[in-house]
Parts: sequence; C-alpha cells; structure tokens
Amino acid sequence: MNYLEIDKHHTWHPYNSLPSKSPILAVKKTKKCKIYLEDGTKLVDGMSSWWSAIHGYNNKKLNKALEKQSKIMPHIMFGGLTHKPAALLTKKLVDLTGLNSVFLCDSGSVGVEVALKTSILYQKAKSKDKFKFLALKNAYHGDTLGAMSVCDKDNSMHSLYGDYLSENIFIETPNLGFESDFNESLKDLEKKLELNHEKIAGFILEPVVQGAGGMRIYNPKYLEKVRELCTKYDILMILDEIATGFGHTGKMFAFQHTNIKPDIIIVGKGLTGGYITMAAMITTKNISDTISNSDIGVLMHGPTFMANPLACSVANASIDLLLNSSWKKRVLKIEKVFKNELEKIKHSKIVRDVRNIGAIGVIELKDDIYSSQLQDFCVKNGVWLRPFGKLFYSIVAYTISKKDLLKITNTMIEAINYIESNYEKD
Ligand SMILES: *Cc1c(COP(=O)(O)O)cnc(C)c1O
Repeated sequence: MNYLEIDKHHTWHPYNSLPSKSPILAVKKTKKCKIYLEDGTKLVDGMSSWWSAIHGYNNKKLNKALEKQSKIMPHIMFGGLTHKPAALLTKKLVDLTGLNSVFLCDSGSVGVEVALKTSILYQKAKSKDKFKFLALKNAYHGDTLGAMSVCDKDNSMHSLYGDYLSENIFIETPNLGFESDFNESLKDLEKKLELNHEKIAGFILEPVVQGAGGMRIYNPKYLEKVRELCTKYDILMILDEIATGFGHTGKMFAFQHTNIKPDIIIVGKGLTGGYITMAAMITTKNISDTISNSDIGVLMHGPTFMANPLACSVANASIDLLLNSSWKKRVLKIEKVFKNELEKIKHSKIVRDVRNIGAIGVIELKDDIYSSQLQDFCVKNGVWLRPFGKLFYSIVAYTISKKDLLKITNTMIEAINYIESNYEKD
C-alpha cells in the first residue's frame, strides 16, 4: 500500500489545499535531532516540530514515562475525578510560574479560548461587562475563532470570516530589538486604553517574542509598562507563552526577563516535550477566587480529554528532564552560534533583517516569494526547515550538537546565497 496516495487524496495538511500543491515528505522515524524519511533521506531538524520537541525526538525517559502510564491508566474523565499525574503537573506549573490556579486543556488555541473566557468571567464577577480584548499587531494566538479574533488581521485572513469574528482592539507592536525603544507602541497603548478601557477585559500578548505572526523580538521592559497600565485600568494581563515557554528565550518563561507577575499565562507546545497535545491556562488565586465566589461560580469549560494522564505524565517527565539538565547553558550556547552565524548573511540583497534569541534564529527576507525554493534547497542539503512568508527561521532542540546546529545555519546561509545568485541572473 502506498500511503502517500491516500494522503494525497484524503488527508488535509495544515494551511494547505487538498491535494497539497507543494510536496509532502513522508517521515519514517525520528531520533534526537534527526528526521528519517521513507526514501532514506536523513534530515537535521531545524524546526523542533513547531517549538515543541525541546529535548529532540524519541527520548528514552519520555518514552518510558508514557509507556508506564499507558499500563496504569491511559485516560479517565476529569469531571469529578482526579489523578496523581495531573496534580503533580499542576504543582510543577504553579512552582515554575509563581501563579496559583491551573486549567489543563488540549491545545494551545483552546488554552487561549479558556484564557479569554476566564477574563470575561472575572470582569463579570466584578459586575463589569467587558467583552473586548487588546492585542498587538503581528500577534499569533492560534487558529480557533476566539483565538483568531486576537490574531493579526492580515496574517490570519480575518476578512474571510465576515462578522463571525469578534472585533477587538489592536495596537502598534513595540519596535524590533531586545533593547530597543518602545515609546511609540506605548503611546498607542495609552491612547487606546484611555478611550476603550471600560470595554476591555484583558490584554493578550506574546511576551518578548512574537512567533508565527512575524518572529519579532522586542524589549522585555515593554511588559513592565503593560503591567502598570493593566493594573491601573483593571485589565487582565494575559501572556501567551505557548511558543516562548519552557526555555526558548533563555528563561524558563519569557516574562521572567522581567520581575512582573502576569494575571494569566498560557503554556502549550514544549509542555510535553513534543509528545502529545496539551496546554494549560494558569492564573492567580485572586482571579479564580473572584470567579468562584461570585454568582457565576464556575469556569464553564471542560474538554473531554482534559488532563489526559498520558499527556500529564509525559509533561511531568519533560519538565523534570529539563530542570535536571543544563538547559540554560545549552540555550545560551545556541544563542551565540545563531548570533555569530546569521550575522554573516545580514548584508544579502534579499535579506531585510537577521535576529535571534535563545534557541530561535530568524532571517527576515525582503520578499515572501522564496519560501518553497528555500525549503527545497534545505531538504536537498539535508536540513528540515519550513520558512513561511518572509520568515526563514529555525527553532532547535536544546540538546542539538554544535555540528548539527552549524549544519542548519550554514545551510540557511547557502540557501540565501543560492536564491540571491539565481535572482541576479534573471
Ligand atoms: C502555536 C501557538 C498557539 C496555538 O497553539 P496550538 O497548539 O497550535 O493550538 C497559540 N499561541 C502561540 C504564541 C503559538 O505559537
């Protein structure tokens, strides 16, 4: 049986047509930072499966956790019942974030939905009808409709959905750069808050790095100002750490580049080390108490597979593995390599900007027409990268060897040179 034929005619891939107009590669197995294709090709992984495989693939300890839990209790409903893996995971998340109340759910987008609902309920519990959210331009918070309503309008093709999507309020993003000035964005925020604060339940943003909406790195001090303003207007500060969480920016969570305490954090992606879909909405005792002690009384949300024991067990093992490793040192080393290597391509005619932080390296191009050619070039040269739009980027597992990392950065540089020389000929 040729399963690629089935795939081609019946299986929808993300952000794609059916059948796909671009090639879909068949993966046979994964190990550490390598992807093995059915045709025998071996690729160095430069994507860590969209920020999730922070330890690399097929990790012995994580496999063991999963196997062990599968023999005890693969799943049990969470309504009225609980179990040790969920409680242990809750405790870990509370300790790591400094917050108090944890809602375990199935994916990042659902975690965002839960955060938005929690914010509205909190405001309602305080007798305030606040149904709008603030979000940053270039934001990405997921693909479900509520999450989409706080995503950048152009990137998420808002207009296709008419008035089905809620209208929210978007503000200018802080300037690019970890140490850059962000006064313009702050002015826009202050203005829009003054005008609209009575309607706004929360301000949702990706701390320090905006991911899929632009791979934009900004000054963490911006978050301190956001904290002050949110407190002033009793607007909840919701940090989407789904991408940045679990060490990607060199801190366990990106907000920890500052000393602020957010009201809500959403984690996902790296939470289970890339094994099983799972996310969590984590909030303060004040917020869960305010909702629970009001007439509303409950958080009306409950996915069927909430707190799945397999996912909780592998998340617990992943967090233990991370904490028992020298992940910070490793991420810093990765950061240095990305910085030194990507710098070399900064002056290419097709490159607008190069930037990096932690395990993230980004080349922003001047045009969005190169992504499929770049991807083809990388695959032909033994590296898995999946550029989108103007963004040619890599997010690596913290366990990657220097050799593999250099293979990724060298291939990125060669790919840019290859494209540049091809376009010169035209
Ligand atoms: C990936 C992502 C999401 C959505 O998570 P899913 O698990 O894909 O639903 C939300 N926010 C950010 C910042 C993300 O990177």
